Amino acid sequence: MKSCAYPYCPNRVSLDVLACREHWLQLPLALRLRVMNSWRPGQTLTTASPEYLDAFQDVMAVWFEACEAEPAACEPKGKSR
Ligand SMILES: [Zn+2]
Repeated sequence: MKSCAYPYCPNRVSLDVLACREHWLQLPLALRLRVMNSWRPGQTLTTASPEYLDAFQDVMAVWFEACEAEPAACEPKGKSR
């Protein structure tokens, strides 16, 4: 298990997915397909294909736009840590 790639998202996801269901479904379908089509099992950021890194950058751009529109959604959840 690893953390969802969304900023401050506390959800844990399995190693072969990028984000939790909520944040994954926030992405446009075309972008989700680009990520899925360029994903290779066991890849890391250093072994990922250029296509994957390109799609990943677009994913982060979508999420940061969402954060700017609604900053509360991107703040750390739970003040305990
Ligand atoms: Zn998430």
